[in-house]
Amino acid sequence: MGCEKCGGRGWILYKKDGIDFAKPCECQEVMKARNRLDASGISDEFHKKGFKNFSDRGKEVLRNARLKAIEYCKNYPEIKNTNRNSIIFMGQVGSGKTHLSMAICNNLMDYHKVGVIYMPYRDEITKIKQTIKDEINYQNALNRFKTCQALMIDDLLKGKNTEADANILFEIINYRYLNMLPIIVSTEKTKDELLDFDEGVMSRVLEMTKDYQIEIIGEEYNYRLL
Ligand SMILES: [Zn+2]
Repeated sequence: MGCEKCGGRGWILYKKDGIDFAKPCECQEVMKARNRLDASGISDEFHKKGFKNFSDRGKEVLRNARLKAIEYCKNYPEIKNTNRNSIIFMGQVGSGKTHLSMAICNNLMDYHKVGVIYMPYRDEITKIKQTIKDEINYQNALNRFKTCQALMIDDLLKGKNTEADANILFEIINYRYLNMLPIIVSTEKTKDELLDFDEGVMSRVLEMTKDYQIEIIGEEYNYRLL
């Protein structure tokens, strides 16, 4: 995992006019993201999720989802600074959307040196709400998710969502939307359900993910369509 540029120190040392200087290496963002992941306690599980060990269970919908995820990673360097730089997986429980989202994050960290912050939606929204009376803590809590290089939102809109949740989400999404900062999203909701909850926020999410929207629908759902 050592960085070629700085030898894993996180700083690049150089001399100018005979004086020693140090500047932060680009790998610092990745290191910060990794440390945060380690602290979150899901690090081991997270690192195991790759494209190679994703099983499509012989289903075309999953095979296509995997291909789309790989395509996203390949195209990432070209799209990262555009307003269509994000990806969303929509589907039922157990469809593999979290696995593919995590595989993308691992790929971005390992191959593209992107610092990805993992946000388990319900847990983090609850934590942010607890800081709401303390402006500084609140802004700190929000900033981590607003400004990171890439953000994975796991299980978007899980649980019962209030107007306070929508406001927090808007702050994060709108900032990332305006600054063209990518999001990697998994959710059990459909497009319509997302828009029904809050059109202002979700129209931005859907715009950012416009080229990479994957709906993983299973047998039950197909059955209903017949
Ligand atoms: Zn480095």
